Amino acid sequence: MSGAARSWNGLPQAAHARQLALQVRDAVLPAADGSLLAHGNGRSYGDVCLNDGANVLLTRGLDRFMSFDRASGVLRCEAGVLLGDILALVLAQGWFLPVTPGTRHVTVGGAIANDVHGKNHHVAGSFGHHVRALELLRSDGSRLLCGPHRQAPWFAATVGGLGLTGCIVWAELQLMPVANAYMLVSERRFTGLRRFWELNDAAERAAPYTVAWIDCLARQPRGIFSSARHAPPQPALPPQRQAQRRMPVTPPVSLVNGLSLRAFNGLYYHRRLASGPALRHHGGFFYPLDGVRDWNRIYGRHGFYQYQCVLPPASSRDGIAAILAQIAASGQGSFLAVLKTFGARPAPGMLSFARPGATLALDFPNRGADSLRLFASLDAIVAQAGGALYPAKDARMPASLFRAGFPAWEAFSAFIDPRFSSSFWRRVNP
Ligand SMILES: Cc1cc2nc3c(=O)[nH]c(=O)nc-3n(C[C@H](O)[C@H](O)[C@H](O)COP(=O)(O)OP(=O)(O)OC[C@H]3O[C@@H](n4cnc5c(N)ncnc54)[C@H](O)[C@@H]3O)c2cc1C
Repeated sequence: MSGAARSWNGLPQAAHARQLALQVRDAVLPAADGSLLAHGNGRSYGDVCLNDGANVLLTRGLDRFMSFDRASGVLRCEAGVLLGDILALVLAQGWFLPVTPGTRHVTVGGAIANDVHGKNHHVAGSFGHHVRALELLRSDGSRLLCGPHRQAPWFAATVGGLGLTGCIVWAELQLMPVANAYMLVSERRFTGLRRFWELNDAAERAAPYTVAWIDCLARQPRGIFSSARHAPPQPALPPQRQAQRRMPVTPPVSLVNGLSLRAFNGLYYHRRLASGPALRHHGGFFYPLDGVRDWNRIYGRHGFYQYQCVLPPASSRDGIAAILAQIAASGQGSFLAVLKTFGARPAPGMLSFARPGATLALDFPNRGADSLRLFASLDAIVAQAGGALYPAKDARMPASLFRAGFPAWEAFSAFIDPRFSSSFWRRVNP
């Protein structure tokens, strides 16, 4: 079968020799010429989930729930189960994901392999912190049962291991208790990064979820700062209102351009905010983009890039200011610009991205050489600041920046399954 397994941003494109659907009854990985790579739901931006010229193992068939203890919140499921499917099962029973990224359409295997983070990193760490155990199927047919205290080096290599240590078959997660499906959300408009840092410092002490949207086209960075907590028991809950919309076609050119961005950012910045904490359904708070199916199509046939960096605490204030100034000067704004800080909890994976400091994530339409020139200038700021780029959101970082940002890459290499590889890994290890 010729390859259609894609990444979310459509960049880079890959021609896979074969797409092999993995079944739970498979005792060993399927035979194929060339290397293998697990492909979850393709929600990564870039090539961590691609294996150009070789094979991908489609894991969505690993979709069974294996056990759930509703008293302790311990859930065991196969690696192709989506985070949204977990919520559909456990929320009504008073449990929630301890860490969730900005979309629910992500598999458990993908969440582990990128050690994804959410808006609560400062209190909960990353996804890998809540994995109690996992089973790894290697190409020699062996199955490794790993956890934080069992085969710990294999666990640390596999959490954030970009799918290279083998195929995760199932995982056991510790969920967190909640009273209902709602959040108490506070929003504040701010102008200037200094105000962002003030709001962030105060909110991180008081709220488990914090995040800021930034209008990076404004002369002075401005935005909306959100903080939230799970709502306590309520006498009555409002009805859920997240209408499902759809982007029906892929236009020939990006609908995101200077004009549409300025209009969107202006409207979004000035939208009406509640004066105090407001009760909102968790879906609208955690997954606003999931409300528009195929929203990635608005960027047109040429696709788009995401640029996500983390800068350490000592250099994050100057570094974030420099990056935003560079973007504003380039005129290449992003309508998804998110700024938040990570907490100090040591990462569970050798190649985990989330680490103490501030992280900025931005989407850019693919404008060819102009985009790449802008990213090279941002890379220089990130390197100077001692930061790193997120492999899950990357289609072009140079090998030097990867190695500087992930100094454990060499020790990690010893854990790579000899039959596994990816487009990303070959690119950053030329
Ligand atoms: C709208 C949107 C918002 C997002 N927000 C966030 C966010 O807030 N925080 C964040 O951290 N990320 C975020 N992401 C990125 C996303 O969470 C990650 O890229 C995630 O890993 C995608 O999971 P997937 O199931 O689609 O896996 P894929 O993208 O298909 O694969 C990701 C990696 O996992 C590996 N993999 C998948 N399954 C297995 C398996 N069974 N065994 C071994 N390896 C496996 C693949 O080889 C690949 O290296 C967002 C993405 C989108 C589209």
